[in-house]
Amino acid sequence: MTPQPQKDAQGRAFVGVHLKCCNVYVHAYQNASGDAFVGWCPRCCVQVRIPIVTSGGSTSRFFSAS
Ligand SMILES: [Zn+2]
Repeated sequence: MTPQPQKDAQGRAFVGVHLKCCNVYVHAYQNASGDAFVGWCPRCCVQVRIPIVTSGGSTSRFFSAS
């Protein structure tokens, strides 16, 4: 199950992402093409990309950039 996206005040979809690299929690926003949520670690700037799948997929709502 894909993590349930939330919407911010501007109506943009995002999911909460826990980044193991720096142990921080960030919001990953849906990209322009709508096929992934993308976020960046505020400390080391590593990118995390979560593909949006319509069936199957991970049951976890926590993802980590490696
Ligand atoms: Zn980091």
